Amino acid sequence: MPTSAHRRKLRILFASSEAVPFAKTGGLGDVAGSLPRALKHAGAKAAVIMPKYGTIPQEYKDRMKHVADFYVPLAWRNVYCGIEKLELQGLDFYFVDNEAYFKRDGLYGYFDDGERFAFFAKAICEAIVKVPELACDVLHCNDWQTALCPVFLRELYRGAPQCNNVKTVMTVHNIKFQGQYGDKMLSDILGLADIPAARDQLYCDKDSINFMKGGLCYADALTTVSPSYAYELQMPFYGEGLDPIFRRRSNILTGILNGIDTSIWNPKTDAMIPANYSADDLANKAECKRALQEELGLRQDPTRPLVVMIGRLTNQKGLGLVRYAMDGIMRRGVQVAILGTGDADQEEAFRYFDQKYGDMMCARIAFDNALSHRMYAGGDILLMPSEFEPCGLSQMIAMRYGTLPLVRETGGLRDSVVPYNKFTGEGTGFRFSNMNADEMADTLLGACEIFWTNQELWTKLMLQAMATDFSWRRAANDYMDIYHGLHPEVIRYNKRR
Ligand code: ADP
Repeated sequence: MPTSAHRRKLRILFASSEAVPFAKTGGLGDVAGSLPRALKHAGAKAAVIMPKYGTIPQEYKDRMKHVADFYVPLAWRNVYCGIEKLELQGLDFYFVDNEAYFKRDGLYGYFDDGERFAFFAKAICEAIVKVPELACDVLHCNDWQTALCPVFLRELYRGAPQCNNVKTVMTVHNIKFQGQYGDKMLSDILGLADIPAARDQLYCDKDSINFMKGGLCYADALTTVSPSYAYELQMPFYGEGLDPIFRRRSNILTGILNGIDTSIWNPKTDAMIPANYSADDLANKAECKRALQEELGLRQDPTRPLVVMIGRLTNQKGLGLVRYAMDGIMRRGVQVAILGTGDADQEEAFRYFDQKYGDMMCARIAFDNALSHRMYAGGDILLMPSEFEPCGLSQMIAMRYGTLPLVRETGGLRDSVVPYNKFTGEGTGFRFSNMNADEMADTLLGACEIFWTNQELWTKLMLQAMATDFSWRRAANDYMDIYHGLHPEVIRYNKRR
């Protein structure tokens, strides 16, 4: 029986290449900005470490305090690294500073991304050794940008007392992006060329290495952002070549559905929407719809179901189905509004529909956070027919706003949307299963039929959707279970709530 000395808060260091409100390109930024705070509420001592990008707003840079500096060994070189710190709403954020690597106009997409994030991963390991306040029990890594940390820790830092009891968790937010580079990096940057085990695990091809593969092979626990995606990753269709590793390590792989920030996404208090409403009084949602139709130049008609789509315009999002089905949907008198940016051909296709269908279809090719709030509030249905979707936030946000999601049954969409069941009346949205445009259109028109003929049932479904709990509390408790599973010698500080 452990003594009371073992009852203490686990120290979690959350390593991420982006975190809201400092830098965001996708869901990872949202997770890194919200989950660590929820972990603190669940009884951990949590902090975040990320690069100090040039694009971080000046107001935050001005408030950062210098904590330490040292040199990071990258093969034959020693590279400068500063550590800065900023406390934001009770959570400590640490920033890895190297202007040559991170003072640029964007986050990713540079010729030396491999080197930049290899440096970042190694700087994190060095910081754990050299900066006492960064000592941790669990280093939680996310996606390929931090996937080398478990490799470095095990192969290069095992001897350091600050590292030998650090366990690693590796979370996959999207397996499409793996960080694959030429194998010269092993000797020129990583300093792992002479370590056969590391070479074996990192190689993915005759002459290339894969950061994500290294992380997946070395981490003590693997997680991904929904239970269904955890299952799908083990299949060749979704696994992007790494499915054998997920199958081999399935005993340590867990899927935990992300939460959303329910203080930001709340129709009762949202200052960005024209009229506030809640499950207790839905009346103002009609005003949100009216205002949205007006803003987007759509026909002012409350009886038209307004289908909204918000997200990146890429193949992942199942846009081929929407393009194929668009004419049929339009013929039935449904309105469609799309907000997004992405691949040029997709943007062009939706601009074409915008022209073709006048006041029944609107495509806003832009990234516009405020408009996204108005669309979540003003829509009737959120369409999300993704080919794959590790978790997906849009469908959860839509449910908070009483906008019923219509999704393909995959990944987090399957785990968050309960399909309408006409026998039991259960449901928080609508689902279809195959990548088939007719199946999607049939499901959509079936939903519109309810909208047209049974408003009472529609309202019931809206209320059921709005009542779903998507807060981070549940996810944070699940992560705490994993951390404590890796450190059975530490008694849990807070009981699971
Ligand atoms: P992914 O991470 O694959 O891009 P998610 O559904 O997980 O998709 O998260 C997308 C987030 O970004 C949502 O919060 C969505 O509202 C927001 N978003 C995506 N595109 C836009 C856009 N063009 N304008 C405003 N917000 C957007």
